[in-house]
Amino acid sequence: MGREIALLKTDKGEISLNIRVSARAQSIGLRVDPRIGGAELVLPKGVSKNSGLKFARSKGDWLWEHLLALPKPIPFVEGAEVPHFGVPLIIRHMGRRRSVFGPVWREGDNLCVTGDPRHMTRRVHDWLKAQARQEITDRGQAMAKNLDVSIKAITLRDPRSRWGSCSVDGGLSFSWRLIMAPENVLHYVVAHEVAHLRQMNHSAKFWRLVEQMIPDSDTPKAWLRLHGSGLHRFGATSAIES
Ligand SMILES: [Zn+2]
Repeated sequence: MGREIALLKTDKGEISLNIRVSARAQSIGLRVDPRIGGAELVLPKGVSKNSGLKFARSKGDWLWEHLLALPKPIPFVEGAEVPHFGVPLIIRHMGRRRSVFGPVWREGDNLCVTGDPRHMTRRVHDWLKAQARQEITDRGQAMAKNLDVSIKAITLRDPRSRWGSCSVDGGLSFSWRLIMAPENVLHYVVAHEVAHLRQMNHSAKFWRLVEQMIPDSDTPKAWLRLHGSGLHRFGATSAIES
């Protein structure tokens, strides 16, 4: 599977396009991707990049209509607000010298970043991802211990629509963006995936287990439904890889 980034020229301007070749795709796929403020073009094997681009260009108006309807991306720059466990922190550049806390640290409602300003986006992204890893790992391991199951590995990714997943071999995968959601939301997603280590389905038994692990799963579920996609606005830049 290959990946490539291209600029799609349309009448209304250029659109950043993530091109992906998929062995599973049956036809050319095109969808708006809020993570990059652009679109993703999926090519089935054997379909040339040029035919894909031609197709995307023919959908230019449709793409713009959906791109303009997206909530505005919030890049990780000086003065921007980025939520940490649902609490908005303001990004502050603190000069080039690294502090004793490392290149990024939280101070009250500020997220302090040092170093070359050109690397701020990357630094904030790395910090959030590291925080997510820590919180998810600690909670996941404690929950797994309680259920007497074991987690093979925890992977952090940046999927478009899923917040967590569980593989048959016991590996769990989560969106690093959960660290921006309120705490009970992250907690719920971890519980959900750990519960799958016992019940690899969404049966009544599975949901009973989730309810045993956390008392109220309806609230975080509703939050994700209503606000989950909004988390994709943050740090939107094609320079970030998951
Ligand atoms: Zn599930």
